[in-house]
Amino acid sequence: MDFTLPEHVEALREEVRRFAHREIRPHVMTWDEGKVFPMEVMRKLGAMGMLGVIIPEAWGGSGMGYLEYAVVVEELSRVDGSVGLSVAAHNSLCTNHIYAQGNDGQRERYVRRLAAGEVMGAWALTEPEAGSDAGALRTVARRQGDHWVLNGSKNFATHGTVGEIAVVMARTREGAGTDGISAFILEKGMKGFRAGKQENKLGMRASDTSELILEDVEVPAANLLGEEGVGFRQAMKTLDGGRISIAALALGMAQGAFEATVKYASFRRTFGTPIFEHQAVQFKLADMAVQIEAARLLVYKAACLKDKGLPYAKAASIAKLHASETACRVADDAVQIHGGYGFIKDYPVEKFYRDVKLCTIGEGTSEVQRMVIARHLHREF
Ligand SMILES: Cc1cc2nc3c(=O)[nH]c(=O)nc-3n(C[C@H](O)[C@H](O)[C@H](O)COP(=O)(O)OP(=O)(O)OC[C@H]3O[C@@H](n4cnc5c(N)ncnc54)[C@H](O)[C@@H]3O)c2cc1C
Repeated sequence: MDFTLPEHVEALREEVRRFAHREIRPHVMTWDEGKVFPMEVMRKLGAMGMLGVIIPEAWGGSGMGYLEYAVVVEELSRVDGSVGLSVAAHNSLCTNHIYAQGNDGQRERYVRRLAAGEVMGAWALTEPEAGSDAGALRTVARRQGDHWVLNGSKNFATHGTVGEIAVVMARTREGAGTDGISAFILEKGMKGFRAGKQENKLGMRASDTSELILEDVEVPAANLLGEEGVGFRQAMKTLDGGRISIAALALGMAQGAFEATVKYASFRRTFGTPIFEHQAVQFKLADMAVQIEAARLLVYKAACLKDKGLPYAKAASIAKLHASETACRVADDAVQIHGGYGFIKDYPVEKFYRDVKLCTIGEGTSEVQRMVIARHLHREF
């Protein structure tokens, strides 16, 4: 067991770190307050290969693994969780679903453009009445000749407004439970397919989150992903990988909040000494460091298992659960150590505190992760 990262991964970390410092850090609060989706930065990340990290070079991607991908998301999120979330949703939800479950024609038509960052991708499973219980989704798809007609609505879709291509899960057979759900590739130009309400969020405000409305959308039969009826299983598989990136997102934000706090504690003085010298503050910082280190090991472990082709779903859920709950605790302590200044937008911990909460909700809540982990335990014992 080797706890050092390969040289090329550390070089990649440095490259992304420099990019985030130069292109993202100066704009973080402007984008947050204005709910600005940083399309220009996404284009640049696309040119760097960061929007097709896990896609083979043959299909226009960077041909890297989940370890590299986790480090990319971690470093971006260390500066801005919104950018980390967008990169995560684009890579491992939309693009990877089409790459992993699609045929060569679908890869040629969609994956190349997505991996290059020419277009942003959305992935729509959640509906107003179907979040944790995603199998209860109501969007329907009926076959009519050489196409399917989709009706319904999705909510909370990352890139619902800015995305040009979306993977949409819909019910193709009534009464068949999750075996009656299929996955389709939709394009924004399709008649009847549009973004609805754009959400005004607590955090992750520069990441676009929107409703998607489907009104008699005619989708060519060629846009069905895999067989009819396997869409739910595809979606669950997609989420298994996606959870590694949400864990990396949480890890990066926890690291960013921690670093800002160590710096602050070193210059803020009370009772004649930097607050770092107060043991109560030291204990908080030590606990933060321990929890972050544990989260990092869990994230990299899940990523390495996936890269080696070994079972990784339980490890991904464990990493996501631990990293996201750690990030919330770390951000809370970070604000506390900043005192009143932690409550003020001039200091980065205020934003981390708001952004981290998404990690215990998106791609399966903490409760859902515990259900997934328990299901694995049930099989193992
Ligand atoms: C910013 C953002 C971006 C998102 N991006 C996407 C996206 O790109 N694509 C997409 O499809 N979805 C996306 N989502 C949706 C997200 O995955 C869901 O919000 C999440 O799965 C929870 O579903 P829900 O909101 O309906 O909560 P609910 O399912 O209503 O859950 C409410 C509460 O009940 C708990 N609960 C539910 N069932 C159980 C149970 N059996 N046992 C114990 N507790 C339970 C939950 O854990 C939660 O605490 C996004 C959400 C947000 C906020």
